[in-house]
Amino acid sequence: MEKSKVEFVYKNISSLNKISIVNKKIFRILPYICVPSLVIGAIAVFLKEVLPTYIRLVCLVIFLLTYLMWLVSFFFEYIFLFLWKCPVCKGKFPWYQTTLGYLGGEGSRLVNKEVKDICDRKDKKIALIQYENSNLIIPQKCPHCGEVIWKK
Ligand SMILES: [Zn+2]
Repeated sequence: MEKSKVEFVYKNISSLNKISIVNKKIFRILPYICVPSLVIGAIAVFLKEVLPTYIRLVCLVIFLLTYLMWLVSFFFEYIFLFLWKCPVCKGKFPWYQTTLGYLGGEGSRLVNKEVKDICDRKDKKIALIQYENSNLIIPQKCPHCGEVIWKK
């Protein structure tokens, strides 16, 4: 898979790719934010006699925001199940699922492998690109209907 500057024919393909990059970055830093956030949450709950109310409130807000960020990232990874497809024929494109990789889960699982296999077929070879930090594999042409997705 090559990584080079290409021109996307469809804007939403480019936008989804950007979402994937941002999302993966958030997922990478989340564990480092979640641990302090849990500590802050615990402080807010267990030291309620000691701390002034406004500090506990700030702690709880930080804790809830981190939790929300995690939920949103989780949601944005899974929107590719529904949105990562050809803009013309709605045929699915392949992508990697990495969400729980750092929890020891099955990291980097290829979703829609059968579509990638179609792209890799010798008689119908379709160029694929994947941006650094993006989970999405972008075929040059739609493996289902042949619509051009990006140009050099
Ligand atoms: Zn198509």
